[in-house]
Amino acid sequence: MAFPRRVPLFIGGEWVQSASTVFTPVINPATQEVLSEVPHATPDEMARAVAAAATAFASWKEVPVPQRARLMLRYQHLLKEHHDELAEIISQELGKTFEDAKGDVWRGIEVVEHAANIATLMMGETVENVAGGIDTYSIIQPLGVCMGITPFNFPAMIPLWMFPMAIACGNTFILKPSERDPLTPTRLAELFVEAGAPPGVLQVVHGGASQVDYLLEHPDIRAGSFVGSVPVGKHIYRKGTENLKRMQCMTGANNHMVVMPDANRAQVVNNIIGSAFGAAGQRCMAIPNVVLVGDAANWIDDLVVAARKIQPGAWTDKSAAYGPLTNAAAKARVVGMIAQAKKDGATCLLDGSDCTVAGYPNGNWIGPTIFTDLRPDMPFYCEEVFGPVLCILKVATLDEAIALINRDFRGNGTSIFTASGAAARKYQHEIQVGQVGINVPIPVPLPFFSFTGWRGSFHGDLHAYGKQAVRFYTETKTITARWFDDSIPGAGGPNMSINLK
Ligand code: NAD
Repeated sequence: MAFPRRVPLFIGGEWVQSASTVFTPVINPATQEVLSEVPHATPDEMARAVAAAATAFASWKEVPVPQRARLMLRYQHLLKEHHDELAEIISQELGKTFEDAKGDVWRGIEVVEHAANIATLMMGETVENVAGGIDTYSIIQPLGVCMGITPFNFPAMIPLWMFPMAIACGNTFILKPSERDPLTPTRLAELFVEAGAPPGVLQVVHGGASQVDYLLEHPDIRAGSFVGSVPVGKHIYRKGTENLKRMQCMTGANNHMVVMPDANRAQVVNNIIGSAFGAAGQRCMAIPNVVLVGDAANWIDDLVVAARKIQPGAWTDKSAAYGPLTNAAAKARVVGMIAQAKKDGATCLLDGSDCTVAGYPNGNWIGPTIFTDLRPDMPFYCEEVFGPVLCILKVATLDEAIALINRDFRGNGTSIFTASGAAARKYQHEIQVGQVGINVPIPVPLPFFSFTGWRGSFHGDLHAYGKQAVRFYTETKTITARWFDDSIPGAGGPNMSINLK
């Protein structure tokens, strides 16, 4: 697959080459081949992007809702047609296995399908006769120019969480994707144009912290959605709200699975292997921590045996369980954290730091890694490692498991495996985490729900996609109206009122 030498910016309906002198290489993490380079847009280019979005908003907000819905229908159709092509781009620039990359695209397509229902999602409310002959009703209107800042690990799904919902609501949008894998969002934008998106409705700009800060400070941007790490999310939330923008920041995770001794042992082992090591652990819904309750502690050997059977590999290798880490720095960080955990006294049951894949000597490979006997203060447990790793913790009771998980400052997702409805019900009720799986690993909610991470994994009030996204990207206007009867010739009739003070 041929990629542009330099990734263009997309401003006001035009693909433009940046005048920047600062570029980041886009590297295939399995081979280290430089696929392209991405510019860090200049202040002038950033200003043009905001101006184009502001200009387009004036006409886009007037486009009838069914036409906006039809754009999403056409876009959904095109994304499905180009599903495999998009997945291949993801595999090349991020290293995901082809099946995993297809899942990334598919979860985004589902959000576009949801955005195609925008007419019913934007319905207001009416109460007739709030006073004699007076009705009150609310309508929902778009905000204006919105922006989205996305992470490297889902280059299709996460941009598609954002701009289709915002644009279907009548807003215009500026997307700043991760500088590590900008080729997938570029193709998403090309297909959006092919679907019929008018100029200026979507802009794609590139860069890092200074481009994001530019957007956060710009007075013409009304709202911002961010997905990424905890420290960057905190910064972006603070800066965005200080600049009076509506913000939603979905941040990092350190998810746990609780295993009760009555759970189905084979299912537990299969699900832990998939959730800890799938996508090289580079998922905010990965489960790097398993809490074995009581006799479930006897299942550790099963986990180690199962983990030994899986290996990473290149996206073309159908037997590969997962791909490489996103870049050499991410690999070096995980290798360093494994070494530190050993020094800290944790027991290493499986060490993937010295991992090779035949034919790919330069890939950022890490094999499945398992530790136990960890203390809560050890970085390997309490930081987000974001690699194919599993921490095994042991507790005596479900109450202890719940207390352990609720002590973590993050609250993105969790799951429990058990045969007891009562244990599951207790867990669902008491756990301070926003997305709970019961005998399923952490589910990414389908787009008619919202992605509801809690506590340190989320800053804001309204979550991504679903009905909450419609409220995030719109403003409610309430109208109270009276029309006088004497404007209707011959009107008038029974008129009754009661006094119930
Ligand atoms: P990151 O925070 O490094 O980068 C995310 C985005 O922020 C990128 O577009 C990047 O260019 C920009 N950015 C980086 N530093 C910045 C700064 N100082 N100021 C302003 N912008 C900055 O995250 P990442 O490494 O790309 O992604 C992995 C992280 O994302 C993990 O922590 C993962 O858990 C999290 N994540 C969370 C969710 C969720 O829904 N909660 C989903 C996916 C990923």
